[in-house]
Amino acid sequence: MEKFQVSQKAKLPTRFGNFFIQSFREFKLEKECECPVEHLVVFTDKFCDAPLVRVHSECLTGDVFGSHKCDCGGELALAMEKIAQEQENGKGGMLIYLRQEGRGIGLFNKVNAYALQDKGYDTVEANEALGFKSDNRNYSLVGDIFEYYKIKKIRLLTNNPKKIEAMSKYVEVSRDSIVVPSNCYNEKYLATKKAKLGHLL
Ligand SMILES: [Zn+2]
Repeated sequence: MEKFQVSQKAKLPTRFGNFFIQSFREFKLEKECECPVEHLVVFTDKFCDAPLVRVHSECLTGDVFGSHKCDCGGELALAMEKIAQEQENGKGGMLIYLRQEGRGIGLFNKVNAYALQDKGYDTVEANEALGFKSDNRNYSLVGDIFEYYKIKKIRLLTNNPKKIEAMSKYVEVSRDSIVVPSNCYNEKYLATKKAKLGHLL
């Protein structure tokens, strides 16, 4: 069976700028589920040698509902702004939006993890109490996406050393930091990301 399919390329005007989008439909063979997962790639019309790339994992509560429990929504908006700037200066960029909610555990389990956090668990302890690894994400499709767009070198927008390591399997990576201001709700979450997940904050 094929590993993925690619949709047609379409225009997407946004409040950040005008981009193109394409969807990658990934066929995952995991456990009893063979359901396809549909990801989104947002990109500028041209790329330089090393375009600015953000690999963003879905966070419905943060990206759409403006949650203050994490920094995902702010990072997504900031990444889109930065990629729009790269479009203007002719270097180009790409945002790969991976549908792996809640660090890969799914929305239902993430809400249960939030309920544990309400009782005082931190983000890592809550995932582990539910029987998951602290980070269940998988980036195997990203290599195929880079190959599809013929990208061999990137400037990766991230604070996560594990993501740099994961991307380095597929392309040459240099890092651009992405820093959104913290608030009273996510200070502990950001501190845990720094202390337990090694984020460069
Ligand atoms: Zn989030």
